[in-house]
Amino acid sequence: MGLTGGIASGKSTVADDLAARGAVVIDADVLAREVVEPGTDGLAAIEARFGPEVIVDGALDRPALGRVVFADPQARRDLEAIIHPAVRRRAAELTAEAGSDAVVVQVIPLLVETGQQDAFDLVVVVDVDPDSQRERLQQRNGFSADEALARIAAQASRADRLAAADVVIDNSGSPAELGPQLDRLWSMLQERRPG
Ligand code: ATP
Repeated sequence: MGLTGGIASGKSTVADDLAARGAVVIDADVLAREVVEPGTDGLAAIEARFGPEVIVDGALDRPALGRVVFADPQARRDLEAIIHPAVRRRAAELTAEAGSDAVVVQVIPLLVETGQQDAFDLVVVVDVDPDSQRERLQQRNGFSADEALARIAAQASRADRLAAADVVIDNSGSPAELGPQLDRLWSMLQERRPG
């Protein structure tokens, strides 16, 4: 299944709970870093497109690459065209390795933004009310209210995300209030397993 939600909605909190219950968690953010590690085809493709100025000591110079794509939407699209397919290939490999009995949870922050709803038999959205989301983001990242709001506004809207959801986990309340919802989700995931 695909697990998504806005920034600081609680995706990691939910994924950690499911992992503790036995799910195999595949995190798109982690894979996005792995596919551009030194020696990868991904890093070679980035060097071919963006030049040696985004490489330092054989590794990706993230700040340098960030400056290039920040100012240039086409450069950003080119970067995504390198990274996203590599992430999807790696996720497919890991899913196959997990085996058909496993409950596989793919955490994809930009699942809705990248239109991957249909790639999953089940899309689970972690939802949070906007005030709690802003407060948690400010607290965790040390952002001002305006910085937090700008990051929230840069993502898909809450409505668009909810429209893509097969299951909604409401994380507006306390962490304890997640418990019964995750019990139900886990039961559902067990029932959907083959055999
Ligand atoms: P990101 O996409 O930014 O990586 P995320 O969606 O994975 O974030 P988490 O890291 O799970 O979100 O949670 C965001 C922050 O909010 C964390 O500091 C976490 O401890 C806190 N948090 C999560 N759920 C709750 C809750 N129910 N009540 C209070 N704080 C919470």
